[in-house]
Amino acid sequence: MANLIDGKAISAQVRADVRADVDAWTAQGHRPPHLAVVLVGDNPASASYVRGKMKASQGAGIDSETLKYDTDLSEAELLQLIDRLNHDDAVDGILVQLPLPDHIDADKVIQSLNPDKDVDGLHVVNAGRLATGQAGFVPCTPAGIMELLDRSGINLSGQRAVVIGRSNLVGKPLANLMLRKGTDATVTVCHSRTRDLPAVAREADILVAAIGRAHFVTADMVKPGAVVIDVGINRIDDATRERGYRLVGDVDFEAVKEKAGWITPVPGGVGPMTIAMLLRNTLTAAQRLAATRQTV
Ligand code: NAP
Repeated sequence: MANLIDGKAISAQVRADVRADVDAWTAQGHRPPHLAVVLVGDNPASASYVRGKMKASQGAGIDSETLKYDTDLSEAELLQLIDRLNHDDAVDGILVQLPLPDHIDADKVIQSLNPDKDVDGLHVVNAGRLATGQAGFVPCTPAGIMELLDRSGINLSGQRAVVIGRSNLVGKPLANLMLRKGTDATVTVCHSRTRDLPAVAREADILVAAIGRAHFVTADMVKPGAVVIDVGINRIDDATRERGYRLVGDVDFEAVKEKAGWITPVPGGVGPMTIAMLLRNTLTAAQRLAATRQTV
């Protein structure tokens, strides 16, 4: 029976650590870090994520604001807003809540961010910094996974890690993090064209599923004792629930937990870490920007 990696508890520890570091920062006479979240349109899931981010920021002593716009905001208007936030010394972190309405090119908007305020780590400069081992901002979900592993005492050095999924948001940055000098895993990244994926997965000491398909990873794909990290969030119908569905991961949790050494649940595993790492990134942005302003 696997040890459960409790993302809720670890996220609470990270948030408490960020709170203590923010208090120490403001005690030195600095203003609190400031996060600007841009929300366009009326997607209820996005609105709920943004509320969660606002609440968590307050809990960590971070000033946050939601800049909310109707769906018909034009791309040019949004780019103008980003430009204003980029140049506003009172703003340390900028997060554009995705998805954006179809008439706006999300990538163009992300690439218009000042990389030093890109607390979601999605700007190409931050992807390049991560790939080349320089300090930048790492996307919050993969950063959260590394924190989960670290705080569970799981050492990756020399271990065989297999990441299923190659998105810019999760799979690729996670592979780069695991590959870094000092972390030193041997990393394989799988995707929809991987030949005999179950055989590759079975070689993993650390197996990460970031696919978006319910129960994709079955027990026969897991090496006994492996660490299994489930990033997926999938809705499946469930008439016994008031809302008519429940959330499950990409891993067949009930079967895999009998074989794995460590496992993250869904919900309550990777999910809660994402917001915690956003708070950490926002404080880091405030500290780095303050240092540059002092030296200019
Ligand atoms: P994505 O951009 O859709 O990428 C999915 C990846 O899975 C792609 O690389 C795709 O391969 C691969 N894939 C799809 N079907 C496959 C198959 N049958 N066999 C092998 N690989 C397959 O998704 P994402 O943004 O990385 O997100 C992945 C999951 O994590 C989603 O469920 C998402 O909701 C969840 N997520 C959770 C959090 C969190 O905070 N917990 C954050 C972000 C995402 P190809 O590249 O070949 O198409």
